[in-house]
Amino acid sequence: MNVLIINAGSSSLKYQLFDMESEQIVAKGLAERIGIDGHLKHTPVTNGKPVFEANQPMPTHSEAIAAVLDKLTSAEYGVVSSLTEIGAVGHRVLHGGQKFSKSVLIDDAVIAAVEECIPLGPLHNPANLMGIRACQAAMPGVPQIAVFDTAFHQTMPEFAYTYAIPYKYYEKYNIRRYGFHGTSHRYVSAEAIRLLGNKPNSRVITCHCGNGASIAAVKDGKCVDTSMGLTPLEGVPMGTRSGSIDPAIIEFVANLEGLTRQEVFEVLNKKSGILGVSGVSSDFRDVEAAANDSENPLSHRAQLALDVFRYNVAKYIGSYMVTLGGADAIVFTAGLGENSPELRQSVADWLSGFGVRIDSEKNKLRGKLVDITGEGSTVKVFIIPTNEELVIARDTKAIVEG
Ligand code: AMP
Repeated sequence: MNVLIINAGSSSLKYQLFDMESEQIVAKGLAERIGIDGHLKHTPVTNGKPVFEANQPMPTHSEAIAAVLDKLTSAEYGVVSSLTEIGAVGHRVLHGGQKFSKSVLIDDAVIAAVEECIPLGPLHNPANLMGIRACQAAMPGVPQIAVFDTAFHQTMPEFAYTYAIPYKYYEKYNIRRYGFHGTSHRYVSAEAIRLLGNKPNSRVITCHCGNGASIAAVKDGKCVDTSMGLTPLEGVPMGTRSGSIDPAIIEFVANLEGLTRQEVFEVLNKKSGILGVSGVSSDFRDVEAAANDSENPLSHRAQLALDVFRYNVAKYIGSYMVTLGGADAIVFTAGLGENSPELRQSVADWLSGFGVRIDSEKNKLRGKLVDITGEGSTVKVFIIPTNEELVIARDTKAIVEG
């Protein structure tokens, strides 16, 4: 069966077509600037056909989906001869609120529930719905599956997801910790448990460190705590997000700078984190380069930004050792987690008092699944490249096949 994976954003739509016999991607691409001037890049992966890339009008997600399906089936750039060869579509959906603890077949009730979650995911859920509706219209009768970023974290105990604010806010508005990057934490924790020889009662701490970053505590395959909260703003600092701060800073900055609440919120989401502290970039590569360049006037701030990030990742891991009563494995994944030996070394150094050691030679490897545990370490340390799309494709196939 071929499964199409759709990740719809407000003005973009990423896609991959998987052949589920081999679990290989046969084509992938990105439709961008939807509602602006429209741009499509389509890459056939397995059959040697050429890449297509051009501007083309896409006023809405419907035209974007039509353009994608056209390329997937075209004689020149296609990978299937007709749409009947696409057995199902899996959609990445940001927020499933408390309603979804696993992936589901999309029907009217699911769409209504995703709509109800729009206040919790105001930027992403409407875009995800546009992608779903466009696919339903273009491929009637083809099963559509929703895979939620929040679902894996629904196993958190009440005391871990409850904020110490008036309880009525939870009762009235469902304000609680939800957590994100769930598909990634689920995939890499399952891989880690496999590497641990399917040890019973396993305790795994997963660090998804990319432009967005979150840490999760996984007990026997189930999430018991995670660093992101009601929104992805909480937790460790990120590319442009502050992560956890004293909430009083919001009013303080609003008063001092004459900003509205909305504007402060924008600063915390888009101008903080690594970018805000370093003044260099939200991209960790740029910040690492600036930190290593003593001639750069922002060198100190770049190093400080990295130190703040690494220290906070280590602090969360330490706190999740309390949550789990120790740890069998720590996993690094996503852009930075998979590619930055400096991050992994620094975090291991902070955790040395807990018996964490990594092998400095193996730690030089990038972007591969590798056990970097050092001699004498009491905790295994793994680099596990994440594969959220594969999880979505597997869930989609499993649901369609019942
Ligand atoms: P992601 O959101 O998972 O795509 O991760 C993006 C982040 O990973 C960006 O900030 C990148 O700078 C960072 N990243 C990717 N490759 C490297 C690398 N080789 N060294 C350090 N950071 C990297």
